[in-house]
Amino acid sequence: MSGDQKACAGISRRDFVTGAAVTLASVGAGAAALAPLMDAEEIPTADEFIQKHYRRLTPADKKEIFARLEREIEKQYGKKATICDPKPIDGVEFAYVLNIGRCIGCRRCVYACMKENNQSRDPQIQYIRVMKLKKGSVDLETSVHDYPPEEAADPNYFYMPVQCQQCRNPPCVKVCPVKATWKEKDGIIVIDYNWCIGCRYCEAACPYHARRFNWSKPGLSSEDLNPDMGYLSNRPRYMGVMEKCTFCLHRTREGRYPACLEVCPTGARKFGNLRDPDSEVRKILENERVYVLKQDLGTLPKFYYVFAK
Ligand code: SF4
Ligand code: SF4
Repeated sequence: MSGDQKACAGISRRDFVTGAAVTLASVGAGAAALAPLMDAEEIPTADEFIQKHYRRLTPADKKEIFARLEREIEKQYGKKATICDPKPIDGVEFAYVLNIGRCIGCRRCVYACMKENNQSRDPQIQYIRVMKLKKGSVDLETSVHDYPPEEAADPNYFYMPVQCQQCRNPPCVKVCPVKATWKEKDGIIVIDYNWCIGCRYCEAACPYHARRFNWSKPGLSSEDLNPDMGYLSNRPRYMGVMEKCTFCLHRTREGRYPACLEVCPTGARKFGNLRDPDSEVRKILENERVYVLKQDLGTLPKFYYVFAK
């Protein structure tokens, strides 16, 4: 399904939510009436239109939907993709630790994230913002994240990457009127892109500016498409829906590190299972002085910062 298709589906779902009398029988007629405004191939099928919320999908539903999405992706990008759906692992709660003392602000993490997660290149969507802060200041509001590359590794500044903090008490989840975003058992906050109505309440509620809205159809070329996809993570998004970092759940639930960590040249990023007493993140939390952003808000981030060598 293309971005424009989802926009149609999104409008229709809004109608559902607000109680508009839309019947399945009228879908075809409604879509046909809009036909002059879009390409025929962008008219939503009844299947897409009635797709249930992820949490109500049976294994059989999922199989069918994933196969349909894979066909659509192949048609759109000319590339075979696989959509997986890894589940949270019992006894695992993920946490991230970022060592500000090591970050040089090179932004390799930003671009590795874009590549891994099929973010739109035009317009550009990025989940990670690396804030450049004058040494001695911690004022995030006056820091910049769009500094030119030659301004990285400036000894007079420090660099603080900010992305979704996977809050234990996430305000973004509370405000969603259709429950399109929720917390999984391993603590990762996810979004059902087919259920999101694009109201942007979650974006407004997030105190970390971690959510990104697709104002237009995401621009991603076949060459840039990462075909290894997760249904709740990096599968292509649509115009009119929200997205954000998912701790690369399609990788991390299968024992791999997030893409941003793997590419970091300084070892500033650490990731692991908070409930495992032998994990690197647990050891850092037990032995170092760690910080969370905007602690006073009570969001309880699982993204920690440490200033160490
Ligand atoms: S890749 Fe590592 S060093 Fe570079 S900006 Fe990201 S966290 Fe900092
Ligand atoms: S950082 Fe923002 S988007 Fe992420 S869980 Fe917290 S409130 Fe939600």
